[in-house]
Amino acid sequence: MAGPTSPLLIRGADILGFGRGDMFISDGRIAQIGRSVPAADGCRTIDARGGALLPGLHDHHIHLAGLAVRGSSIWCGPPDVISAEDLAAKLSVTGPGWIRAIGYHESVLDGLPDASQLDRFVPGRPLRMQHRSGRMWLLNSAALDDLLSRSDPPPGLERNASGYTGRLFDEDDWLRTALGSTPPDFALISAELAGYGITGLTDMSPHNGFEMAHHFAAQCRSGSLAQNVTLAGVLELTDAVSEGLALGPVKLHLHEAELPDFDKAVRLINAAHRQDRAIAIHCVSEVELVFALAALDEAGFRPGDRIEHASVTPPPQLEQMAAMGLTVCSQPHFVEERGDRYLLDVEPRLQGDLYRLKSLADAGIPLAGGSDAPFGNADPWRAMQAAVSRLTATGQSIGLEEALSPEEALSLYLADPVDLSRARKLEPGADADLCLLDRPWAKARTGLSSGDLVATVISGRIVHDCINEPPTESLPG
Ligand SMILES: [Zn+2]
Repeated sequence: MAGPTSPLLIRGADILGFGRGDMFISDGRIAQIGRSVPAADGCRTIDARGGALLPGLHDHHIHLAGLAVRGSSIWCGPPDVISAEDLAAKLSVTGPGWIRAIGYHESVLDGLPDASQLDRFVPGRPLRMQHRSGRMWLLNSAALDDLLSRSDPPPGLERNASGYTGRLFDEDDWLRTALGSTPPDFALISAELAGYGITGLTDMSPHNGFEMAHHFAAQCRSGSLAQNVTLAGVLELTDAVSEGLALGPVKLHLHEAELPDFDKAVRLINAAHRQDRAIAIHCVSEVELVFALAALDEAGFRPGDRIEHASVTPPPQLEQMAAMGLTVCSQPHFVEERGDRYLLDVEPRLQGDLYRLKSLADAGIPLAGGSDAPFGNADPWRAMQAAVSRLTATGQSIGLEEALSPEEALSLYLADPVDLSRARKLEPGADADLCLLDRPWAKARTGLSSGDLVATVISGRIVHDCINEPPTESLPG
């Protein structure tokens, strides 16, 4: 982090939980909120012109390294790519070296292609294409040959009677080592997130371990990464998370087609709890949720245990989650981004269970929002819009009764990252993590657009500054 911050006075803001007033910020914290706060010496003063001043948004589920390299990757899944023809068009790129593709979904080629199928799209050049779940890479023959010439095959490289299929499960560390690649710089992506008002993030990549913890810490120290970081990942992360990073839950990633051994899952939950850490279990199907709840029931559950996604939550499981005191980290924007696909693919009996929000909240289950970027859009305002509208990209509605109010949608991003049941508030003594909009909340709530953002403040420092740009519409005094 850069040096000490100078004091900051924000005048005439529509302060969430207070109303029209001023906020004085000093030493990275909110020092005072009031009707007419005097300016201190050497203090920068911002005229908020009645714009909403909110706690900074926290993305509770993101994969930052994947997001940072998204720009050098080819998106190969819905909605842009839905057929073999689309895929062929996307992969017909020229140039040397590896092709990195992401976002693949079974609907494109009616299943998971093996190396020889991928060779038809990219014959001579190494191709790795990541499945949308983030858990699997699909390799063509040139990629297989290249990797196996550099390194011994790992356990996660699928093999059948005729040899390696090119499907690589949960071997990101091996892949990185074999390719000799280092984790990416976060400066550009950190700035993009700041432009959405994001002041904190929880990286939920299941394999986050020593190397990534070290990288995150270095990126925070150098100032490349401005956001506050909570790092979830493997058990061994406990020893790796150092100064400046908060330790998040242990991640248990379930995949319906290949569920882990039940006793092993129970042991992992127990081990997380012994470290005084919560467990965060990835559940995108009914089967995965049933498995997760059975494992938690066997292991015992503690406050803070999380279900990631809860994409499908039938009523009996909803009741069980509430009784266990579990929390849910949801992706409301998947209704918009993937909803049209869900309407085709998800059994009708389960469609009312998709990305529930309101019924979870009504059952007392603390909710938080996470982008799951790069697998979902990183703009939390789009997710808030979808949480309120429940509309798919083509305008069909999914589970309208699960809609949240704009205030409830906003609150998904205001939860405390280490205690999702606690809302972060603007009050003296709190960290000065803020976002300032160009219009009062009463107006912003109807559009919920990141375009309204004029400034983002992290620990008292302005990291995104459009303050001198003219407001997009005239504001009442
Ligand atoms: Zn994820």
